[in-house]
Amino acid sequence: PGLLLLQVRVAQVTHRHVLVLAEDLTGARRLEAVRRDFVVNVSHELKTPVGALSLLAEATVEAAEDPEAVRRFGTRMRSEAARLGQLVQEIIELSRLQSTAVPGDAQRVRIADVLGEAADRARTVAAAKEIEIVVGEDAGCEVVGDHNLLVTAVRNLLDNAVAYSNPGTRVGVGVRRLDDVVEIAVVDQGIGIGADDLERVFERFYRVDPARSRDTGGTGLGLSIVKHVALDHGGDVAVWSRPGRGSTFTLRLPLAPERAAAPAAIGPGR
Ligand code: ADP
Repeated sequence: PGLLLLQVRVAQVTHRHVLVLAEDLTGARRLEAVRRDFVVNVSHELKTPVGALSLLAEATVEAAEDPEAVRRFGTRMRSEAARLGQLVQEIIELSRLQSTAVPGDAQRVRIADVLGEAADRARTVAAAKEIEIVVGEDAGCEVVGDHNLLVTAVRNLLDNAVAYSNPGTRVGVGVRRLDDVVEIAVVDQGIGIGADDLERVFERFYRVDPARSRDTGGTGLGLSIVKHVALDHGGDVAVWSRPGRGSTFTLRLPLAPERAAAPAAIGPGR
């Protein structure tokens, strides 16, 4: 960090003119390092559920005579397999996001549609905890981007809000239109995040409390997906939180350019 890596090429054009080409390789190098880290992290993260599955399979074989134990191991295998499935799904999503700087399928997207779809999907899990998801007015905002990616981002924020909140609480989604930006805030009354963890939660595989996160089926990838979607759309994501009080995640996205105003109706000529 702070170091600039320049590749400089010099060519003698005429006897009095020299052409100097300087290319900044810092970005490329960093990207390469990020990719390498990612592969190391991924292999590490995959080993845990795979290891658990093979131990459980082993135990099942040995406990063949004991139906109660077989059932217990089977239940745990099911949840490890689900975890593995989610992990693989999110890894695929993330690597797809990392390989393109431009959203896959850019078109005008209505924020109301994104919030509606994300909330509908998150409500299934929320209902089981009697958590109500309340979506505010969207002020007719539109952005340019990929509808599905934006739904995934908001959905991840909502799933977290639900996962890290106590039953019977509320999760709110508020929309504000600032100059040329729309701000989507997902607000919960959950357990919150301590100051030390706050700046790290967007890192890949970062979990505040791996044990607790494992209970909720977390992979530590959700928020880095949100961050990538935000950056790919020219926006960003921020968090405010207080332990015991709740968290607010704010997704900011540039608004789509205004549609050209419809020409004023012209009366029949005389
Ligand atoms: P996970 O799959 O573990 O939820 P994320 O990347 O989505 O991974 O989140 C990283 C960590 O940030 C989580 O493990 C959790 O500890 C914390 N976190 C995320 N959202 C919230 C929230 N709304 N309230 C409290 N903690 C949260």
